[in-house]
Amino acid sequence: MRQPLESGETVIARANHHVTYPANFQLVAAMNPCKCGMAGEPGHVCKRGPRCASDYQGRISGPLLDRMDIQIELPSVRVSDLTLPPSKDTSSDVAKRVAQARDIQTDRFTSLGLSHLRSNAQADGRLLEDITRTDDSGQSLLRDAAEAMNLSARGYHRVLRVARTIADLAGRSDVSRIDIAEAISYRQQLASFSLAA
Ligand SMILES: [Zn+2]
Repeated sequence: MRQPLESGETVIARANHHVTYPANFQLVAAMNPCKCGMAGEPGHVCKRGPRCASDYQGRISGPLLDRMDIQIELPSVRVSDLTLPPSKDTSSDVAKRVAQARDIQTDRFTSLGLSHLRSNAQADGRLLEDITRTDDSGQSLLRDAAEAMNLSARGYHRVLRVARTIADLAGRSDVSRIDIAEAISYRQQLASFSLAA
């Protein structure tokens, strides 16, 4: 069941999806994949071809997108999704995990003598490089992704920040290759919609 969003509409909750991420503020925005709203749907080919998605997505400036920590492609909601039992995570479970991750972050900065910092969101690039320790396989994934995705310095540091936060949410002191892979997946380029169409 595809329901194209009205232009300018902001969606803050979708069925069975949770957003769990400690931050100073959260801006959650949604857009259609293309002008007709159908790109990426199985079997759909836009009447205008790939330009339906590329022109539409091109209206959002690159520097603006670069400032988003997480960009993900959500499949359209189907009738069967709406009848699924709700996720096992209750809001209070999620709130507890976020609070624990925040405590881990505050403690880390305090132990580094940076008690004016409370969360990863406040850490600059240099500090993020220091606190995001990973092994060789994690490092090589980071290097390859930065090159393949042509990441700006800001984009690279956002990947580090998200990976560090994913590890904090899981209570891991070191950042694993999997945390980095997850963080990279949240920066997938919007253009992937047009490739899928
Ligand atoms: Zn389209």
